[in-house]
Amino acid sequence: MAKFLTLTDKCNLRCAFCYEISPDGAEHTFEAEAASFGPELYAAMHDEGWRDVVITGGEPTIMPTFFEAIAESKRQGYERIIVASNGRRFAYPDFTRRAHQAGLTHANISIFGHDRVIHDGTTKVRGSFEQTSAGIRNLVAAGIDVSCSIVVNRRNVETLEPLMDHIWSLGARRLLVMGLKPFGGAFTERERVFYDFAWGAPFVNAALRHGLARGFEITTMGLPSPPFDVSGTIDDNIRALKYFDYVLKRLNMDVPYCKGHLCDRCFGRQVCAHGADPGQLLICKCKLVTEQTIREAVQAGASTVRQVRDRTDACTGCTTCAPDIKHLIRCEREGRPYDPRDVPLPGATRHGASDATGLTLAGGLREEPAETPEARP
Ligand code: SF4
Repeated sequence: MAKFLTLTDKCNLRCAFCYEISPDGAEHTFEAEAASFGPELYAAMHDEGWRDVVITGGEPTIMPTFFEAIAESKRQGYERIIVASNGRRFAYPDFTRRAHQAGLTHANISIFGHDRVIHDGTTKVRGSFEQTSAGIRNLVAAGIDVSCSIVVNRRNVETLEPLMDHIWSLGARRLLVMGLKPFGGAFTERERVFYDFAWGAPFVNAALRHGLARGFEITTMGLPSPPFDVSGTIDDNIRALKYFDYVLKRLNMDVPYCKGHLCDRCFGRQVCAHGADPGQLLICKCKLVTEQTIREAVQAGASTVRQVRDRTDACTGCTTCAPDIKHLIRCEREGRPYDPRDVPLPGATRHGASDATGLTLAGGLREEPAETPEARP
């Protein structure tokens, strides 16, 4: 993946399942200073090794700093300059042209229905279907590489095939098909957006076959298999698990508000201390190594991350679970439970890394912190 440059947490839509919408109705107020773009992009490229950048939000195109973010990314030599957007602003041809001229190379546009009833009903903004569709068309016409993101939910699960046909007609050829997360707005509106996987999976599986037959390149995230059949797609569940881990650590609640409501339909339960079976919490998300496996390695004599790595295969992917393993070693030796929240929050630039080849990520094995974080009292 890429360096994430977040311009704001504000948005011009209110999508039903948006996990950025706080269940307690807290306002979105964050706006990044343009002066921070240069140092942040420089550090991500020269200290960590990122070559691509995702300009994101909230909705980044509503910010007056949007074009500055693109231009600064280009000036610093980023190879792929990607925007993650709802696409509405790109309905204006001048806006699209200006973004292209500034250096935008790729766009990841969210679209949730094949018609205005489903899409606008999800985004809660009338006219957004027409704007997003026009935006995708304009981006493709400008020569920008477009991928469309679909969040599979109760509203669209039965009509994913016509949605894919609609996206194809707009000219995009790549799709990111994602499952729901139980946080934020998705939790508040859970009765409207979540669905029974056993009932919905046949629709999703048929749509994936349909999209692949059409010629789409499809990446899937957060669709547990079974019941979902993601064969033929680029399976990026590792990134989905890392993102879950990041969100749960950021929530920093003794008990997540979603516990007991959505655990049976939660893709991230393997990385949630309240969802995983005892000992089965995933510590290393790349290699799917559990807490129990690492505790057994420590019991057998491993006392460093390197020794755990040699015995279990953990921390041989992106290596960013090194702080988690180091803390777990200490917990096992002291005979106490492991709480993921006692480990520092993963950096925003690394929680989304599915392929970290060539990168030097903070928190990785080469940069083990000198001190293990203290346990919560
Ligand atoms: S498994 Fe964890 S994150 Fe998932 S719904 Fe349950 S408490 Fe929430």
